Amino acid sequence: MLFDHPLPEVIDRAGLDQLVKLLQADGYTVVGPTERDGALVLDELAGGADLPDGIGVETGAGHYRLRERADGAVFNHSAGPQSWKQFVHPPRQRVDAPEPVRRLAFIGVRPCDLAALAILDGVLGAAPYPDDRYLARRDQIFVVAVNCVEPGNTCFCASTGTGPAAEWGYDLVLTEQEGEGGHRFLLGTGSVAGEEILDRLTHRTATGGEIREARRAVDDAAGSMGRSMPETDLRGLLNRARGSEHWEQVANRCLACANCTMVCPTCFCTTVEDATDLEGDNAERWQRWDSCFDPDFSYIHGGAVRKSVGSRYRQWMSHKLSTWHDQFGTSGCVGCGRCIAWCPAGIDITAEAAALAEKERTR
Ligand code: SF4
Ligand code: SF4
Repeated sequence: MLFDHPLPEVIDRAGLDQLVKLLQADGYTVVGPTERDGALVLDELAGGADLPDGIGVETGAGHYRLRERADGAVFNHSAGPQSWKQFVHPPRQRVDAPEPVRRLAFIGVRPCDLAALAILDGVLGAAPYPDDRYLARRDQIFVVAVNCVEPGNTCFCASTGTGPAAEWGYDLVLTEQEGEGGHRFLLGTGSVAGEEILDRLTHRTATGGEIREARRAVDDAAGSMGRSMPETDLRGLLNRARGSEHWEQVANRCLACANCTMVCPTCFCTTVEDATDLEGDNAERWQRWDSCFDPDFSYIHGGAVRKSVGSRYRQWMSHKLSTWHDQFGTSGCVGCGRCIAWCPAGIDITAEAAALAEKERTR
């Protein structure tokens, strides 16, 4: 059984609109997937009508396209170009001045992205040096997760143990169903705040058939991922591959554009910039996302440590799959597939891991 939490309640499509309204009435800015610029982005929703009914995605290595769906499904699309990271760890923030913290409600958080938020909690929110701004934002977030019933071609969360079922870390969790009985969402709670919202929603109790169908759909999703990580000790594999010639082979394809780090829901590296006005009377300190693909990222006295593209790709992939364990006790990859879809060269972390494993096996 992939998930055991009860899914005893049901709301219909109008109930989803009502959920958005209730959260807004409680002072939340509601953020969810919506169509913009040929992609499903995460943005503030004016209402439930802004959600992407009937829009699906087609993904592949270096490929992402929207497509019309035959049904009106709202959440059956895999991860888009953005992750929820941008709301808790913004791409650019002034760090020498206080900032107001908004109450945000995230709607449509997929299990891989729930796992990514948990990883960020461990990286940015934990002792010994917690980021107070991160914690203040995180504290104000209401999470509506969705169980994945239709994984994408670049998804591999089943092999990283981070999906397709949302196990914890949410206030409410939805499982979307269509067909006989109409368009509906089975709804479970994960917190007191979630229970309070459920009490105010128009809902009915799920039938046994609906619950069985939801569980079967999530089980089926685990078996229909477009990709998977090789079943091997990735931590040890990457650790042993430091001197592999494979990194230069990747470098022949990699443009060092840093897209993979920008779209990754767990990459957290930043740099700090100070700016003064021309009179020199005012100074500001800004933090912005940085990337290990930037040669200057490893600049220390005397120059950059990782001068070649191959060494920078090795750093990124080794950190994700191996040294992240040493630092934070987990993998840094949740199998969302964004780095595969948004790599302009179509470089695929699962294929590179498989190539390293094969090279080691045949050495
Ligand atoms: S692996 Fe792809 S996305 Fe990442 S830096 Fe290289 S070309 Fe850019
Ligand atoms: S490394 Fe790629 S697949 Fe893994 S979490 Fe980051 S973007 Fe997603």
